[in-house]
Formats: sequence, C-alpha cells, structure tokens
Amino acid sequence: MRLTDVQAGWRDRARRFAAERIAPLADQIDRQQATPASVLAAMREEGYLGAALPARWGGGELDPVSYGLVTEEIGKACSSVRSLMTVHNMAAQALAALGDRHQRQRWLPELCAGRKIIAFALSEPGAGSATRAIGTRAVEVGDGYLVSGTKKWITFGQIADLFLVFAHCEREPVALVVDRHSDGLTVTPVTDIFGTRGSMPAEVRLDDVRVPRSHQVGPTGAGLGFVANLALDHGRFSVAWGSTGIIQGCLDACVSYTGRRTQGDRTLKDHQLVRRHLTDMLVAHTAAQAVCYRSACLRETGDPRAVMETALAKYHAAEAAIRVANDAVHLHGANGCTTDYPVARYLRDATVMGIVEGTHEIHQVTLADYAFQRPYLR
Ligand SMILES: Cc1cc2nc3c(=O)[nH]c(=O)nc-3n(C[C@H](O)[C@H](O)[C@H](O)COP(=O)(O)OP(=O)(O)OC[C@H]3O[C@@H](n4cnc5c(N)ncnc54)[C@H](O)[C@@H]3O)c2cc1C
Repeated sequence: MRLTDVQAGWRDRARRFAAERIAPLADQIDRQQATPASVLAAMREEGYLGAALPARWGGGELDPVSYGLVTEEIGKACSSVRSLMTVHNMAAQALAALGDRHQRQRWLPELCAGRKIIAFALSEPGAGSATRAIGTRAVEVGDGYLVSGTKKWITFGQIADLFLVFAHCEREPVALVVDRHSDGLTVTPVTDIFGTRGSMPAEVRLDDVRVPRSHQVGPTGAGLGFVANLALDHGRFSVAWGSTGIIQGCLDACVSYTGRRTQGDRTLKDHQLVRRHLTDMLVAHTAAQAVCYRSACLRETGDPRAVMETALAKYHAAEAAIRVANDAVHLHGANGCTTDYPVARYLRDATVMGIVEGTHEIHQVTLADYAFQRPYLR
C-alpha cells in the first residue's frame, strides 16, 4: 500500500511523539495504574483526542488510514494511552453522527479539542456480550429521564467529564449523555486489572440521575442498534490498529533481545527455532496491517462491507497480537516474565484486545454470518 504524503506525515509525527513522550512512561503508567495528566495534555496538544472527529467542530477529521497509523504508533508505545484515544473518539463520533444540532454545538467543540473527555458506558456487572440484557433503567419524568443502574469497566471513567450511557426506557434502548457531576452519579475506580492497567477504568453508579431529554442521542429505540453500534464499529477499528502496534512492539523487542543475548557461543537469533518465531511475528504484523488497511480503505469509500471487514480486522489483529506477545515473552526467557522488558505488558494488554469491543467468541459467531453474506456484497 502506497501512503500519501499526508498519511506518511501523520504516521511519522505520531511515531516520533509516541517514542519521545509516551513509550518512556509506559511501564510507569502500567505500574501506577494511571495515565499522568501531562500525557493527556500532550495527546490533546497533538490533536489526537479529536483526531477522528469532524473538522467543522475542531476535530482532525483524519482519513481512516491516517487515523489507523496514528493509533498503531500510540498503541505500540502504550495500549492504555491508545485506549483513551479509542473510547473518546468512539463516543464522540457517535455524538457527531447521530446527535442533533444543539448537542453537536454544545459538546463537540470541547470534545474535539480534548478539553472534555467522554467515556463509553455500556457494560454492566451482569451484561457484557449480551448488550440487550443491560439493566440500567431510564424512566420518563417530565421533560427528561431518571436513570438508575450500574456500569462497569468504563475505560477512563475515573477522569471522564461525560458518559455516553445506554439504558432501557420501558423496553426500548436509549443513549444519553450524562454529566459526571450529576446528582446521584458515583464513580468508583476499578483497580488491579490484568492489562491496559493505566486506562483508569471505573464503575459508574447512577441512582435516580436526572437527565434532560435534550441529552438523548438518537431516537428512543435506537440506543443500541444505531448509537452503540456506530461507536463500537469505530472502537473495533481503533483496537485493530492498536493490536498491530502491539505486534510491532513485540517484534522490535524480540529483534533487539535475540540479537544481543548470547547462550554459549551463539546469539539467540542464530538458532533456527528462534528465527522461525521472528519470521512468524513479521508475517503476523504484515497480515494484521493488511486487513487493517483493507478496512480503512473500505471505510474511506463508505463501502457497505466496511463494518464487517472492520470486525474481521479486529478479530484477526487482536488474536495475532495475543499469539505474538505470548511468543515474545518466551523468546525473552525468564527476563520476559519481569517488568525489565516490555513484553509481559504487551501480553497482558493484548489479552484485553481479545475482550473489548466484542470478544473473540462473539466475533467468531458473527463473522460466520458474514461469510454467507459476503459474496453478495462484493
Ligand atoms: C480493560 C477493559 C476495558 C473495558 N472498557 C469498557 C468501556 O470503556 N465501556 C464498556 O461499556 N465496556 C468496557 N469493557 C467491557 C467489555 O466490553 C466486556 O468485558 C466485554 O463485552 C465482554 O463482556 P463480559 O466481560 O461481561 O464477558 P461475558 O459476556 O460474560 O463473556 C464471558 C465469556 O463468554 C463468552 N460468551 C459470551 N456470550 C457468548 C455467546 N453468545 N457466544 C459465545 N460465547 C459467548 C465470551 O466470549 C467470553 O469468553 C472493558 C473491559 C475490559 C477488560
């Protein structure tokens, strides 16, 4: 794939930024389970928090390839920081696409500039893969709703200013923008998660939170099928590219380590079985990037296959990242099991890629349906 000068420019700038400003802090972010405010500020200054959002409201409106390449570079440096880009852009994109004029005017300038952070609040303690089973209730009262329920695993929920909350009104799903400072809303950090440990996840409890009707995104009934799905589609695209970043990070770490480390009179890279692992990693990165590029090109042209090809890219890249990161730990031997090298973090972060925005199993089920539809979409 030949990049345009603009796309190569975004990639190179993100590569420099990630290497200088994020990668040196990645282990600290993982250890301390927090992304420093200075990193958030740097992401904001670079325009990455509004990268996918419309230029009309101050966003970067990057084309999908450029956005993917930026995500890959940030994801290679630190999956926790990449996850901020993912959730903020996915929730704000849903607002940009399906919010009304007043909602766009009110929230998008702040979100595009990264002055406010929006989190995506769908999952609950009892409802993950089965999104239609969410138990959060929105009861119509006057010109708005009283919302009650508990959301869990909400990435960057600890610092978000706004939450895109999904609830049922009667039996119809609704999407609502809820202010963090609303009466009745409590944010509790979720700590000691396995991967993306710096993504500051939270449990968000809503006890009769009053939400004006003007905060409802899309019509009643469209909360899951349109609003959540649009956001999740963007999220999958971002996680797919973030996973290619993990694979590239593993390959770089292994090339460096196996090229230096000697056992007896040979360096590790001279063993055929070690070389085979390196080859598999190289192929995995090339293949994962190829499906991501394909998805980006289809998104660029508004092709009807784009949503499912994005799901395919996410499934493939996340699965490859887990496999490669596991091999990367093995190639580092005992050192791979320590925090002296980044590969253990890559493995933990890659595991999360197989769970968020739809688990592997959910993708395995839905992509089989696509296998039947695909011939008709070509
Ligand atoms: C680090 C992290 C960050 C997250 N961030 C967010 C966020 O910002 N916002 C948000 O809303 N959520 C977030 N989540 C939640 C995430 O979306 C859910 O964890 C995910 O959807 C899976 O739901 P679950 O954990 O309840 O697992 P379950 O749905 O209980 O699934 C458990 C297992 O059963 C399998 N399974 C379930 N249903 C089926 C089926 N129909 N067919 C086959 N297998 C099935 C799953 O694949 C999985 O292997 C985050 C999760 C993590 C770990």
